[in-house]
Amino acid sequence: MYDLAIIGAGPAGYLAAERLGHEKKKILLVEEKYLGGTCLNEGCIPTKTLVNSAKLYVHAKEGGKFGVHAEGVSFDWGAVQKWKNEVTGKLRDGIAAMMKMYGVDVAPGRGEIVAAPSGSGSGRIRVSRPGGGAGPLEYEARAILVSPGSVPALPPIPGSRNNPLVLDSTALLQTTAVPEKLTVIGGGVIGVEFAGLFSALGAKVTVIEMMDEIVPFMDREHSPLLRRAMKPVEFRLGCRVEKIEGAAVHYTTKDGKKEEARADLVLMAAGRRPVLEGWGAENSGIDSGAKGAVVDDRMRTSVPGIWAAGDVTGRSLLAHSAYRMAEVAAADISAYLDRTDGGAAGGKAAAQAVPNRMRYNAIPWAVYGVTEAAGVGITSQEAAARGTAVLESSLPMRISGRFAAENTFAGQGAVKVIASAESRKILGVHAVGAYASEFIWGGAALIEQEFRIEDVKQMIFPHPTVCELIRDAVWGL
Ligand SMILES: Cc1cc2nc3c(=O)[nH]c(=O)nc-3n(C[C@H](O)[C@H](O)[C@H](O)COP(=O)(O)OP(=O)(O)OC[C@H]3O[C@@H](n4cnc5c(N)ncnc54)[C@H](O)[C@@H]3O)c2cc1C
Repeated sequence: MYDLAIIGAGPAGYLAAERLGHEKKKILLVEEKYLGGTCLNEGCIPTKTLVNSAKLYVHAKEGGKFGVHAEGVSFDWGAVQKWKNEVTGKLRDGIAAMMKMYGVDVAPGRGEIVAAPSGSGSGRIRVSRPGGGAGPLEYEARAILVSPGSVPALPPIPGSRNNPLVLDSTALLQTTAVPEKLTVIGGGVIGVEFAGLFSALGAKVTVIEMMDEIVPFMDREHSPLLRRAMKPVEFRLGCRVEKIEGAAVHYTTKDGKKEEARADLVLMAAGRRPVLEGWGAENSGIDSGAKGAVVDDRMRTSVPGIWAAGDVTGRSLLAHSAYRMAEVAAADISAYLDRTDGGAAGGKAAAQAVPNRMRYNAIPWAVYGVTEAAGVGITSQEAAARGTAVLESSLPMRISGRFAAENTFAGQGAVKVIASAESRKILGVHAVGAYASEFIWGGAALIEQEFRIEDVKQMIFPHPTVCELIRDAVWGL
């Protein structure tokens, strides 16, 4: 019998296996596609690998402005794809080696809860192996973690289903050639990243977004900066897609005009939805709403003995959120296993000094591209909507020595810090421009640790860096 059975080996599933494997718990990890899940195979890592190649290409072409000349710069999409596959392959092997090191049994196939654990009794998981194999296998486990992730949401737009020219992000990652023209439906993070990638490689890209701005959680003062930095991508905001014919997207503008975007391919990037089927939700009786599996702040579902973590909860569809949810779940599962085992298992995570509760107020996000954007905490618009009195300070990135040295002034960026007018605690940090994704964790630390304006003023940041603009902005509060 296993201590824990995990369904889904994405960031949530494999990290929980790693944390509890480290404690010598006996773990079964069931995965129907590939170790690493969406993040490693169809999301974070392949996209960033491609974006990095696009950045190198742009830098090589534009190096003349910095006194570096390269002749005949070109890119080889096949080689770019090969490199992407090498990177993801190596990282997958790394996860497999780690699972082996921690004695985690990896079962390929579709996992389904047959019976939930009850009190000190075990639950049961059925694993249907790829291609049928020798038939499904059943395993017993004292606890179950559900982490099946999410899949692209496909709105019922007439002409989009079974249309070979309309791809989701997973299919577009595999494309064998860079399209001359690409239309992206959806201006969220995924849509914007693909738009930037293919535009940098020479495609003519149009993004059609129903809302009046791109990237919904971005500070509204920063969204236009990112759009400008992504020129020549064309953004059609406040537009509703009506139908697709071939690769022609018909839409209505906010003034009610009917327009059409013609392209070679269409990317459907209208968000993702949690996977709520195929893993036995119905057999276990777990509560799930339209948004995802309902969990408390220890990632417990409504059924004792079953936890859920990652995108399936619909709470924050990001890999680093999935990691943290997995850690919180792992600590609680460890304590549960000890309790139901009379303490014999000796769980260490339960004894952690830091309370293990999932918090959502300081989760950073980032958009990767030739120009990056990132943020954490509240935006000016959220502060206004909540009626929170705040102090705000913004600075253009061009005043940073490091930024000036590495950028032409065509690419503008900015850093903004928001603090509570009452408590003077830092509530939000936002950035558009170089290295934003790398330094935003510092903003998260300030918020998480409830630093006040005066605390940050006493901190020393390295110089010259772009991140020191956070400190400079704080002096403006
Ligand atoms: C194009 C793209 C780019 C992204 N970029 C970023 C980024 O830069 N940064 C970031 O933080 N996030 C990014 N994300 C989001 C990130 O990939 C997800 O938030 C993250 O993968 C969620 O982890 P998870 O463990 O919850 O689920 P997943 O990674 O989706 O893993 C779930 C796994 O469960 C398996 N599974 C499902 N059902 C079953 C079953 N019944 N039995 C067995 N196995 C099953 C699936 O095959 C999958 O491997 C991106 C996503 C996409 C699509």
